[in-house]
Amino acid sequence: MPELPELEIVRDVLRRRLVGRRIVEVSLSPKGGPIVARDLTGHGFREGLTNRSIESVQRRGKFLLFGLSSEAGGQSAASRGGRPLTLAVNPKLTGRLQLTPPEGKKAGPVHVTLRFEAPPEELRYVDQKRMGQLYLTAALAAIPTFDAMGPDALEVSPETFGSRLRRFRGEIKGVLSREQFLAGIGNAYADEILWQARLHPYRKVSSMSAQEIDRLYTAMNVTLRESIKKVEAAMGEDIHLKPRDFFAVHMRGGQACPRCGGRVSAITAQGRITNFCRSCQPGGLIRGL
Ligand SMILES: [Zn+2]
Repeated sequence: MPELPELEIVRDVLRRRLVGRRIVEVSLSPKGGPIVARDLTGHGFREGLTNRSIESVQRRGKFLLFGLSSEAGGQSAASRGGRPLTLAVNPKLTGRLQLTPPEGKKAGPVHVTLRFEAPPEELRYVDQKRMGQLYLTAALAAIPTFDAMGPDALEVSPETFGSRLRRFRGEIKGVLSREQFLAGIGNAYADEILWQARLHPYRKVSSMSAQEIDRLYTAMNVTLRESIKKVEAAMGEDIHLKPRDFFAVHMRGGQACPRCGGRVSAITAQGRITNFCRSCQPGGLIRGL
């Protein structure tokens, strides 16, 4: 479940190591490949990618976007050139990317492999549950839900954050991790941000004061920016790793809160775990918590 901090570092590593390089071969696993790889060009996923060069690597929310050369190199691709394409990777809950020499051990079930030469390397899409998606497209708007994403969590201004938040109903944790509100935050970082902000995850957005909204905005920025540094230090070039040892509360149920020493609570609802500290994050009366 890579979220914004992990994907920031994955993007940096892949930008440094793949931009300017040509994809010489694409392979899909027989079972998972057709499920995760979607061709929105009408020319085929493998055919469309093969022989194109990677020109850019960007992140938008929880998507990684690989900008591809408009002219595919090599004879077989000459007739397909002309349109710039994007490979958009949305790893969702269980997907990861791995960059490795071909002999490198698989980080999990591999569904899509892009091969490069000089040096020989593979960019693998690994996904235990085949939940993520890879789209090859000429228009990002063609990707389902892409245009419905809110502003990126690292770029949103405090004013936009506040005014957008007022438009959403429900509990703050659910809103914070909704892509339509802000892009980039999922279940794990929502817990961490709310702990940093000392806000109960089940607080109703409508009950939050302007001060609390400011506090949440600051906590979001502090949490994301500090986490990016920690992820970078722990991940290095191993982009398939998911370093989360530094979390304060997420997946720390029953352990001591690093701020007050109280016990971290764990509540599972709708298949998602929520961790928080009842003494540092009071409130949430709506569920009698
Ligand atoms: Zn605490």
